[in-house]
Amino acid sequence: EITLDGLEKRYGTELAVEDVSVTIDDGELLCLLGPSGSGKSTTLRMLAGLETPTDGEIRIDGEDVTDRPAYERTTATVFQDWALFPHKTVLENVAFGLKMQGVGKEERRERAREMLERVRMADHADDDPMNLSGGQKQRVALARSLAVNPDVLLLDEPLSNLDKRLSEDMQIELREIHAELEETFVHVTHDQDEAFTLADRIGIMADGNLVQVGEPNEVYQNPKNRFIEGFLGDTN
Ligand code: ATP
Ligand code: MG
Repeated sequence: EITLDGLEKRYGTELAVEDVSVTIDDGELLCLLGPSGSGKSTTLRMLAGLETPTDGEIRIDGEDVTDRPAYERTTATVFQDWALFPHKTVLENVAFGLKMQGVGKEERRERAREMLERVRMADHADDDPMNLSGGQKQRVALARSLAVNPDVLLLDEPLSNLDKRLSEDMQIELREIHAELEETFVHVTHDQDEAFTLADRIGIMADGNLVQVGEPNEVYQNPKNRFIEGFLGDTN
């Protein structure tokens, strides 16, 4: 369980995040949804330990990790383009993060194989990642991030470079993988349809504040204020 409690981030006079408070349950997929500049990435970067909050607390299973640097955090990040190393096999890609953690060679291979099985890509262990489909690459990238056994996987608009059709396919795929894995995901997007397809719960960001958190139908049917109503389109 991850608790963000009154998180704030200032850059000089710029208030990037004003107040983000939410408790994220184990195994849940929380989408942070909001327009450009609303503080989604900054929130994620604080969770990852890449930015230090200017106020508030981050607790993982009750333990205060607010001032812990990224390399001492148990979070993993998936990058926007799912960047896989082209000159390494699928297995080597997944084992890479473990190498950074100082895990020995045999154990790396074993754990990488296990992860590939979990995302149903074990048959492709020796393949060149460049020969995989988009969905397969997504599975390998997720396996690589999850191999280090993080408490939470952070995804910052991982589908935003794709055309609409492919993005929709990948959303369904990602939803399926999440359901199979039982890992905690925090997924940032400005795309409302994407959030509604993926999320167990949606957190709406506006002007640095997390203004509403709820299940998709709850947020859709009972937008808490006019901003959310407007952002979600004319729903009623
Ligand atoms: P987008 O959808 O465009 O990615 P976002 O919701 O991820 O937007 P953030 O990147 O978190 O928004 O930025 C929130 C606000 O904080 C913006 O006004 C931005 O200009 C500001 N900001 C972010 N990072 C910095 C920084 N390093 N220095 C100064 N201001 C920053
Ligand atoms: Mg962003």
